Amino acid sequence: MHQPIDIEALCAERGLRITDQRRVIAQVLSESDDHPDVEKLHERAVARDPRISIATVYRTVRLFEEAGILDRHDFGDGRARYEATPEAHHDHLIDVESGKVIEFVDPELEALQRQIAEKLGYRLVDHRMELYGVKLDREA
Ligand SMILES: [Zn+2]
Repeated sequence: MHQPIDIEALCAERGLRITDQRRVIAQVLSESDDHPDVEKLHERAVARDPRISIATVYRTVRLFEEAGILDRHDFGDGRARYEATPEAHHDHLIDVESGKVIEFVDPELEALQRQIAEKLGYRLVDHRMELYGVKLDREA
């Protein structure tokens, strides 16, 4: 589901000035498929450019988020996690023990959500679905 998204190209498209440090952060984000938080992004960015501060990572993800390039999630642990805004919609299932995030799309669920909105007199324009679970074979 995660085709790498070229965040750098999106910045250019949206007229965002791209500095060297922003470029590194954009590349790290483009290559991440695990919904990293700012600390993890910082860790990965510093491996490529040790001058990048955590404050720069915070500022940059905020900037990208405001430009609609990044989606911010909160998967219940109070940490903001980021992913490049996907071209195709997907939802998330979060393993509450390991924190692992699984992406899925279910056409029936998508249709059902549209129907619910319509019943309430709305046309659905967006939604967020987060499922929280414990792996079945670990309960046995
Ligand atoms: Zn995702």
